[in-house]
Amino acid sequence: MSNPSLLILPGDGIGPEVMAEVKRIIDWMGTKRGITFDVSEDLVGGCAYDAHGTPLHDDTMAKAQEVDAVLLGAVGGPKYDDLDFSVKPERGLLRLRKEMDLFSNLRPAQCFDALADFSSLKKDVVAGLDIMIIRELTSGVYFGEPRGIFEEGNERVGINTQRYTESEIDRVARSAFELARKRTGKVCSMEKANVMESGILWREVVQKVRDEDYRDIELSHMYADAGAMQLTRWPKQFDVIVTDNLFGDLLSDLAAMLTGSLGMLPSASLGAPMTNGRPKALYEPVHGSAPDIAGQGKANPIACVLSFAMALRYSFDMGEEATRVEKAVETVLAQGLRTADLLGEEGATPVSTSGMGDAILAGLDQSI
Ligand code: NAD
Repeated sequence: MSNPSLLILPGDGIGPEVMAEVKRIIDWMGTKRGITFDVSEDLVGGCAYDAHGTPLHDDTMAKAQEVDAVLLGAVGGPKYDDLDFSVKPERGLLRLRKEMDLFSNLRPAQCFDALADFSSLKKDVVAGLDIMIIRELTSGVYFGEPRGIFEEGNERVGINTQRYTESEIDRVARSAFELARKRTGKVCSMEKANVMESGILWREVVQKVRDEDYRDIELSHMYADAGAMQLTRWPKQFDVIVTDNLFGDLLSDLAAMLTGSLGMLPSASLGAPMTNGRPKALYEPVHGSAPDIAGQGKANPIACVLSFAMALRYSFDMGEEATRVEKAVETVLAQGLRTADLLGEEGATPVSTSGMGDAILAGLDQSI
């Protein structure tokens, strides 16, 4: 069988710096675990514009469609702020998401015990938290028609339309159930079926998919406003949450911030299964290119490292190896090692981007 394939797009700013630490982990996997990936690397964002006059070359797009998973660093920076909208670095990322039809956005909220003090909530509410929000990413009110600002009588009216087809709900529900099978088998679906017809349809379709094909999954339903309250009251009651584009936008940011710094947050965007059964997939840290700290060795590589761990689990079915990487991160944090974004506690040891990478590799060495 051929090796799993990975396209690495480090991007701009701190993207290449944090990705360098992931590349060391990929090398470690090869030498110490005998797991070899076919890795190719290319440009995206501002650096692609500099080289080709476009933030994503067609050849890079074609490669992204072929590989088992894409791993992206970050794009953008002040140098590109005045470019025409059509060639801005972010357009490269948006093109990837659109053409790969990545409809299922996974945003984990995981709180490492050592960082529980960084949360705005009480330590016992967040310590050990590990939940996953799945947000529908390509439909709903951000895309529905009609939309716009129109004249109506002697005033203007702003209109957006919440619209979901059964098949759009069906596929994101399946994505949530498949994922739940790799976790604890528990899914909570959130909508506003009390006041929105699209919410009624959402609830019906999610339940139908579960009853027909995923009877092993424990499914519950909650109104999204109640869900927001429950997420701040006792988030550990959840495992996988599946919701629409708008509610997912809000709830995933809320849940992520339960856990502390932007430099810690990974994400994945998944599409339809390919012929080999693996979903189309793009893994990336939530943070941007952080021009204020780029080139200074200050970036926290953990969000990017945890994005790679998600790729191991969700694209390559290597849950054990994903856990190994996550545990190494946990060990390093428990030792008090902190990049600049996590400093603040007494007794913490400051480390650079590569210093954090060294420590994670040492943690991986200890795990075998
Ligand atoms: P940002 O996420 O780049 O930075 C926000 C703040 O968080 C900065 O102070 C930064 O230093 C800090 N930070 C971010 N990641 C960090 C890390 N790994 N370690 C330590 N500190 C970290 O957001 P921004 O400043 O609003 O945007 C900067 C550029 O990035 C812009 O061009 C923006 O368009 C782009 N951007 C790209 C993406 C992406 O590639 N997915 C996402 C958001 C923003």
